[in-house]
Amino acid sequence: MRVYCRECGNKGRITNTNRLSRDYTELYCQCNDAECGHTWVGGFGYRHTLSPSAKTASQMAFQLVKSLAPEMQRDLLKELEGAR
Ligand SMILES: [Zn+2]
Repeated sequence: MRVYCRECGNKGRITNTNRLSRDYTELYCQCNDAECGHTWVGGFGYRHTLSPSAKTASQMAFQLVKSLAPEMQRDLLKELEGAR
């Protein structure tokens, strides 16, 4: 990930990170130009999903099926096997 110094426009580097939550991380940055010496805190965050995680989808399906009554689970299994 590239960061740029807002003061002089040179490339900077990330010297440290601080994960504040699952969706947001603070980035401690330093300008690569020794004559500038600017240091700052930026941020990196989650915005929105483009394609859902397969793990999330299968986990959701599993939880959903688990919440069904045993008889409904059996019916669903039969239906799924019939659909193959
Ligand atoms: Zn700079």
